[in-house]
Amino acid sequence: MKKIIAANWKMNKNRAQARATAEELASGLSAGKPADRTVMVFPPFLAIAEVNTVLGGRAGTLVGAQNFYPAESGAYTGEISLAMLADAGASWVLVGHSERRHVLHESDSFLAQKTQYALRQQFGVVLCIGETLEERESGRLSDVLTRQIEQGLSGVLGMSKSLLQEKLIIAYEPVWAIGTGKVAGEKEVLEAHALVKELLGKQGDDLSSLPVLYGGSVKPANAQALLGLANVDGLLVGGASLEAKSFLNIINA
Ligand code: PEP
Repeated sequence: MKKIIAANWKMNKNRAQARATAEELASGLSAGKPADRTVMVFPPFLAIAEVNTVLGGRAGTLVGAQNFYPAESGAYTGEISLAMLADAGASWVLVGHSERRHVLHESDSFLAQKTQYALRQQFGVVLCIGETLEERESGRLSDVLTRQIEQGLSGVLGMSKSLLQEKLIIAYEPVWAIGTGKVAGEKEVLEAHALVKELLGKQGDDLSSLPVLYGGSVKPANAQALLGLANVDGLLVGGASLEAKSFLNIINA
């Protein structure tokens, strides 16, 4: 399976900056060795169309959105629909990123609703899961990942396995490693990814073949080692994806 390398730009870059980074990425991708990589870019909403103009047509490169509201249209002030995102060129969405869970207080049941809704609308979903430091230190890693996987996937188990394999990716991102510079150690990544695969194996008709990405302070210097670990099918990158050169080094790791 091709390794998946995803960029989450969070609330960074105006349209001109996003376009410039996308253009640098596009030329770097042409020069590099991306044939065994799938690259995903999640810009802020207003930059999606710009980024899609540059990267949208490239084989193996996908453009997505960091958020959406699970309704067709209507009285949801400040929200954005999947139809609007599709119109701008997005075909994937992030669901359950730790900042949505812990800063914006999105619940497991709302995230389950979003996951089901996006897949029904033919969008791909990167469902993010991960424990806080307090949860890890109090021995609740397994409980937290079990709850996030069981509840997050509760609405999609009736869908066809081939659709889920094509359109659903899990990202394990320990909250204590996101944006902190503290990458999880090899032992922690191996343990958590093995657990995630085991839990996925118990969902529906065995979803252990879904790709599982690692996220949390990924940098060019640690990308190759992380990609070499068992059950790590790719990387979700925040800070180190903002500069095209650094993200290209991760893609080519
Ligand atoms: C993220 O935003 O998903 C993330 C992992 O951020 P960072 O790489 O900056 O830790």
